[in-house]
This record gives sequence, C-alpha cells and structure tokens, in this order.
Amino acid sequence: MKSHDIEHAMKLAYQQYKHNQSGANASYIPALAGVDSELFAIAAVTLEGDVITIGDAQRHFAIESISKAFNLSLAMDDWGAKELRAKVGSEATGEGFNSVMALELHKGRPMSPLVNAGAISTVSLVKASSADERWDRMSQRFESLCGQPLALMEEVYSSESDNNEHNRGISWLLKSYGYMYSDTEDALDLYTRMCSFGVTTRDLAMMASCYASGGANPLTRQQVVHASNVPEILADMVMEGLYTGSGSWLYDNGLPAKSGVGGGVICVVPGVMGLAAFSPKLDSSGNSIRARLALTEMIAHLRLNPLVTRWKEL
Ligand code: GLN
Repeated sequence: MKSHDIEHAMKLAYQQYKHNQSGANASYIPALAGVDSELFAIAAVTLEGDVITIGDAQRHFAIESISKAFNLSLAMDDWGAKELRAKVGSEATGEGFNSVMALELHKGRPMSPLVNAGAISTVSLVKASSADERWDRMSQRFESLCGQPLALMEEVYSSESDNNEHNRGISWLLKSYGYMYSDTEDALDLYTRMCSFGVTTRDLAMMASCYASGGANPLTRQQVVHASNVPEILADMVMEGLYTGSGSWLYDNGLPAKSGVGGGVICVVPGVMGLAAFSPKLDSSGNSIRARLALTEMIAHLRLNPLVTRWKEL
C-alpha cells in the first residue's frame, strides 16, 4: 500500500471528524476528566517503516486498556496461547470492561485477557520471581514494541491508584476463585501502572504495527513477540477489543482493534500496517468516538476490511 494513499485517506478522515463533539472524557479516573477534549490525532506505521501522522500525534496520553493487548503478548510468550486460554479464557464477556457480574456468571473465570479481570490475571501470569522483576519485564516489552522507552504519567498512576476500589474488588474476587497467579495487590498495582504509561498516537501505531508484521518492530527489525502467538492475540482483540462495542466495530471494519479510556484506539491491518487514533471523548462502552470514526473512515476508504470481497476484483 502506498504511503501517499494512506496519507490522503488520513487527511480526509481527520477533516471529516475534526469538529465532532460527541461523547465525554472518562471521569471515574479523575486525571482523565481534565484532559483537553479537543485533542485529535491519527497515525499509521507501515511494514516498510513509513510513519504517517496528522493532528496532535506527538501529544502524550494514558495508554489505559490498550496496554492489555500488549502485556498479553508477554504472558502468552511465557505460557503459550493454549495455556493462557485455560488460565484466563478467550471469549467475549458481553459485559462492560470492569463487570463484576461477568466474573460471577462464570465462577470467577475472566473469560478474556482484555477485560479488567482478565488483564489483571494476565499480569499475575508474567513469569518473575518478584514484582520488581515482573515490572522490568513488562516495561522492557512495551519499550521493544514501541522502539523507545515509555514513561509513566505519574498523575494518572496516582489518580487511578487512589480510586481503584472497583479493580481491587475484582482482584480479590479473582484470588478467591483461583484465577490470581501472583500476589494480589502486586498484580493490581502493576496493572494500574501499565495503564498509566504515557504514549503518543504515533507510539501506538508503531506498537500496533508489530502485530501487523507478525511480531517484529518494522523500524528496529527486532522480533519482539513470538510470531506463533500473534494470531491468538489478534483473535482476542476481535472478540473483546472494544468491549460491548466489539461487534459493531467488527461489522464496520472486520479488523482487530483495542481501545483505552484515555481516548486511544489501535487497529491492526495484518501484513499491511498498524493504525492508531486518539481523542478523549468516549461512548458508553468506553471507546473514543472520534478515534473510532476516523479509523472506520480510513479503513473504508482504503478498502482494508478483509471480510468484504468484491467479486469483480477477484
Ligand atoms: N485502567 C482502566 C481501568 O482499569 C482501564 C479501562 C479501560 O481503558 N477500558 O478501569
């Protein structure tokens, strides 16, 4: 795919949704409520290593739940996809990202590594002999995917840590049902920390491009994730990446994606590129409205939906 076609589609998507005001910032994490809602950016990183961006693409924001999709690669490399499926699950919950009801309905089984319960359980599975070692391995994985170290957004981390009662409840439920594989409070803390990584839209597109390439970073050329685990990670993203919006996203785009309440959304176009968009205002499922619309527009314009077959071109 040619860079200038991507650039053109990106410009159109950006112009089309630049003035969209719908939704609201996440407010249950106080530090996110105050982020400038006007921010808007789109980025793409192709497998050839071309980086294309528009808007506020150098602005840092909290990665939040998009981190779940990347930390998953570490636990999956440690355990294998089959074992991870057995220990956490890989199905859609049909409920919101922090649903306690979903946990109770399945006897404490998280079902997906991409909801809060499953992501906390997945953190507890990262092999390490101490919380510090686990955090080092997690940071290292994020750094390799991004091609550069990520810094924590300290005010997001402390804001989320101070308002973490719901996730703490989930963590102890996991423990009681046998789905917590390390110290409970340590897993909750490392989960909260990874959600507080500051990223730019460009960083996210770069990280997504590693999944588009089968696990290698297109710029550094480093094989970061075992290639054999990438299809399962992408399958998890298809099932649960946008929570209760995953089905409508799939209808529109047919591609794996992942959102975070910080306003980011990534989309992986296997064999082609990683895409990311950012804007803080969210819908009721916790997905950025503008980011989702912009990516959907680009995917349609560039005819990237793999579920759409056009017989005249076959
Ligand atoms: N850190 C957030 C939480 O645990 C992540 C949620 C999200 O981005 N959907 O609630």
